[in-house]
Amino acid sequence: MSSTLTSEFRKQTRGSVDLVVKNARLLLESGATRGGIGVSNGRIVVIASDEHLPDASEVIDVDGKILMPGLIDAHAHIHDPTMLDHEDFTTGSMAAAAGGITTIIDMPLTNQVDSIKDVEEKISQGESMSVIDFTFYAGMMNSQNVGMIHALIEKGIGAFKTFTCEPYETNKGVIAKCLSEVSEYGGHLTVHAEDQGILDEFAKEMDGDWDAPISHSLARPNIAEDLAVRSCIDIVEQTGGHLHIAHVTTREAILEIEKARLRGNMVTTEVCPQHLVFFRDDMNRLGPKSKLNPPLRAKEDRAALWSALLRGSIDMVASDHAPCPIEKKEAGLGDIREAWSGVDGTQMILRVLLSEGINRGRLSLSRLLRVGSRNAARIFGLYPKKGVLRVDSDADFVIIDQTKEEKITTDMMFSKCGWTLYDGMTMKGVPVMTFSRGLKVYNEGQITGKPGHGRFQAMGSGNRPDGE
Ligand SMILES: [Zn+2]
Repeated sequence: MSSTLTSEFRKQTRGSVDLVVKNARLLLESGATRGGIGVSNGRIVVIASDEHLPDASEVIDVDGKILMPGLIDAHAHIHDPTMLDHEDFTTGSMAAAAGGITTIIDMPLTNQVDSIKDVEEKISQGESMSVIDFTFYAGMMNSQNVGMIHALIEKGIGAFKTFTCEPYETNKGVIAKCLSEVSEYGGHLTVHAEDQGILDEFAKEMDGDWDAPISHSLARPNIAEDLAVRSCIDIVEQTGGHLHIAHVTTREAILEIEKARLRGNMVTTEVCPQHLVFFRDDMNRLGPKSKLNPPLRAKEDRAALWSALLRGSIDMVASDHAPCPIEKKEAGLGDIREAWSGVDGTQMILRVLLSEGINRGRLSLSRLLRVGSRNAARIFGLYPKKGVLRVDSDADFVIIDQTKEEKITTDMMFSKCGWTLYDGMTMKGVPVMTFSRGLKVYNEGQITGKPGHGRFQAMGSGNRPDGE
């Protein structure tokens, strides 16, 4: 028993708590240790070795399994009021809960969220429909709504989405203004970074080849991402502020981000599970389902993403969950340009990190804690309420069976779309239970939470993950 744990326990008043989860391998910020947690009124009230845990109304013995803070999916398109046939707060949050996620950060898909009225409506939709806690982005940012940033931050909407490419392409002036605003008021600007000029020119070379799904990737070469990332970094060097690069996919872009950080800029990034599992040559086999932006890259890029995740150059794993009804994918069977861009993913983040990361020696448990939970909470201003096992933090956690194998099927997925890019894969390492503020919302294949449990979480200004 470490002295930290003992002293945390001593701070607690003795007596009974609502829930005790014991016999766990706890992933604490200080490292992994054996013990359990006590929960009352939705918060962690004690962290201790099993013999020091208090009495509880309910005791769960997890038989040595991992207990870690619930994951934060910082990029998911789950509720667009004009595209509810794709996903909604209920199905999207169920898929997230079934993947060990306890806070989801929704992002606009096509419908603008850039006014106080939009924000109030979205909070009320989420609080009536979501099974887990949530917050969301405003966007897409443009020259008309950049002046709204301060007012939106005051409403708890701290993150803003912008694009350097279609369909929501904006110019460098808007990006500079957004960064200046978030620098002033403590927010976050996230960019989808691909250079539109490069995309336009390289698409011309694919004429006659659009029946092959891989053409989608070849038409969007690495240089499109690299130039756009570099250009956004040039801007943040002038303006200050927090620049977050959405879904990084290339070796070169990772290096640009690393150099920018060494120069002292607040530049963070995320990687998606689909880019950690699949690569370009999988596309013709997987068909139009594998169309997404930025596209699947070369094997060398995938290796670079894993290595950057392990060494701390990539801060978090986020899903960019954006599935669609299967017909919108099948529309691209003869011409990949006609297919919807986007895949499922929120239910797969943790499974991918366990199966392809931990169980293949590409990731450590301490990095899992950081890239799954803690960094997103710190960067987007949700910490220490979220993203950490600590006394007084929300009792948001997931129980993981690291050795259990599971075959991925569409039947186990909670997304509305009815398909998954991972169909048929066997993965090792499974989230078995998910708790949101002390309530078990997912239990071995079943959603046990109810829509309406989820609460809106205001984002703060955030911090750079220390030492990383
Ligand atoms: Zn996205």
